[in-house]
Amino acid sequence: MKKDFYEILGVSKNADAAAIKKAYRKKAIEFHPDKNPGDKSAEDKFKEAAEAYEILGDAEKRAKYDQYGHQAFDGSGGFGGGHGGMNMDDIFSQFGDIFGGGFGGFGGSRSGGGVRRAKGSNLRIKVKLTLEEIANGVEKKVKVKRKVQAPGVSYKTCSTCNGQGQVMRVTNTILGRMQSASTCPTCGGSGQILDKKPSNADSQGMILEDETVSIKIPAGVVDGMQLKVSNKGNDAPGNSIPGDLIVAIEELEHEFLKREGENLHYDLYVSFPEAVLGVSKDIEAINGKVRIKLEEGIQSGKILRLKGKGIPSINGYGSGDLLVHVNVWTPKTLNKEQKQFFEKNMTDENFIPNPEKSDKSFFEKVKDMFS
Ligand SMILES: [Zn+2]
Repeated sequence: MKKDFYEILGVSKNADAAAIKKAYRKKAIEFHPDKNPGDKSAEDKFKEAAEAYEILGDAEKRAKYDQYGHQAFDGSGGFGGGHGGMNMDDIFSQFGDIFGGGFGGFGGSRSGGGVRRAKGSNLRIKVKLTLEEIANGVEKKVKVKRKVQAPGVSYKTCSTCNGQGQVMRVTNTILGRMQSASTCPTCGGSGQILDKKPSNADSQGMILEDETVSIKIPAGVVDGMQLKVSNKGNDAPGNSIPGDLIVAIEELEHEFLKREGENLHYDLYVSFPEAVLGVSKDIEAINGKVRIKLEEGIQSGKILRLKGKGIPSINGYGSGDLLVHVNVWTPKTLNKEQKQFFEKNMTDENFIPNPEKSDKSFFEKVKDMFS
């Protein structure tokens, strides 16, 4: 059974905000871990008080608590787990509010998790991909120069921070003597310093090494997209984990196809007689040729949609389409005989434009394409 928050802080149910804040301040000082080293029950009370204040110190949460009790916060994440729902960092970050600024870390009581392992820096590379590679997905092998620890290098525990990576500063505050943590200036936070290194290594014991990294690139990536290959960046000195390799995608222009999202566009040119008489044409699609048939009397500007012949969605849901734009090539020069033929037919009704309702305008076609 959870204790009543008012009881924890020792205030009445109709205490005002100032009284609640004052009560919490008193509890926090009384049970502060730095004042009660190694006292588990004091730590529990300290956490309990912080949890109570988290609710009662917030008008909205307090109203909910007054109406529904502890139930109001069950399953909502923050306090659902009952005791210990708040960690020390949460509690200390709340302190700025209660005690004013300049009251951040509490040193020893916060760094219970042991030494944090340093992480090396990230490496960045660009990978150029053809549209075919993008459409099908591809595995690329790239050469990178990674900083790694030199063979034979050794590190020892930093004596400034005793391997903690942090040093404590002691300041006097209203709560008495308080410690705050900052990154160790000697080891830069890794907790280790160079012991022995071979002559070819830099001052941190690192060398550059060529490595071939294999990168699996999924189908449907987009120019400018960045993929992350974990732990293939630079190493850091000592007991550390490598950074990541960040791969930026660059799309190479295709000779015939223009990409627009998941759709592809292809400009098809047909001769005047082909448009008049109808024709079959081979289209350069992404994975080889596709044959399409043009009906006789096809108009310039017509767009044929080849479903699913575009680029696959990066999420794996289907593919875009290939849109074939029909352009009828108007002859620029004619011989005498040809000229006579067209002159003769200038006023013939078969040659006079007569768009039907079904021959959509350019704008309607564009609208259709994106609907
Ligand atoms: Zn150090």
